[in-house]
Amino acid sequence: MLVDLHSHSTCSDGLLSPEALVERAVLRGVDMLALTDHDELAGLAAAREAAAAGGLRLVDGVEISVLWEDTTLHIVGLCVDAAYAPLVAGLAGIRAGRERRAQRMAESLDAAGITGCLEGARRYAKNPELVSRSHFARYLVEVGHARDTNAVFRNYLTPGKPGYVPHQWASLTDAVNWISGSGGVAVIAHPGRYPLNQQQCERLLGEFVAMGGAAIEVVTGSHAPAEFVTWARYARRFGLRASAGSDFHGPGEGYRDLGNVPVLPAGCNPVWAGF
Ligand code: AMP
Ligand code: MN
Ligand code: MN
Ligand code: MN
Repeated sequence: MLVDLHSHSTCSDGLLSPEALVERAVLRGVDMLALTDHDELAGLAAAREAAAAGGLRLVDGVEISVLWEDTTLHIVGLCVDAAYAPLVAGLAGIRAGRERRAQRMAESLDAAGITGCLEGARRYAKNPELVSRSHFARYLVEVGHARDTNAVFRNYLTPGKPGYVPHQWASLTDAVNWISGSGGVAVIAHPGRYPLNQQQCERLLGEFVAMGGAAIEVVTGSHAPAEFVTWARYARRFGLRASAGSDFHGPGEGYRDLGNVPVLPAGCNPVWAGF
């Protein structure tokens, strides 16, 4: 069974509509797909209809932006209830904060001599409530400041670079409680991507388990294959299940296409076993 538990649509920073995303997954032989838009559930209904038509199993998901200590983390929720009021309200609160952040990002880029970024990013954001760094990155490519969006993030929009604005996202506790309270399972997305040393990482995993977190992504487009084994070991050590997903944003962006998800290393307990 081909499983991909992390993907994005135009409801956040993906390039395909929820329907087109599901159609692509069907064409690529995916059996089970989670749509996990950033801080947003609006794509799930359309994705569900397309999944029913295409014979694909859709998992209702979300990827929640969290500030833990001084680090931004992404917590994926799988099998969430999109009608659960605390989750709906919590995500609305995060999206509201994105508007002010986008203005400050544009001011920072302005100060670096790059003008028109707010309007530019808004043009790429199909969901006006969800302007993200990806939309700024696409605009910066358009106006010739980088060859592609990966190159943008090397020179802009990241800590210490023009366009970066620290932001107060949700707390880890809130994100896990919204997900678990809705009947879903909380998963730490792409753990290898965070600037945490081993001690911080162990503290994070310990806290996450204590608050009811269920899994970590072992296989993701953000991990090199050698890292799969590292994170499989952490999962076992902390009694966490393992998730796997491409983190697909669109054709030509990122490292893995939909369904290009290698099998989990031996000894992992797949998070989807009970789905
Ligand atoms: P935001 O939630 O607005 O901070 O935007 C985060 C999004 O930017 C991530 O979900 C990725 O899609 C994209 N992103 C962040 N860092 C990078 C990077 N180094 N290379 C490419 N895309 C990135
Ligand atoms: Mn993204
Ligand atoms: Mn992420
Ligand atoms: Mn993602």
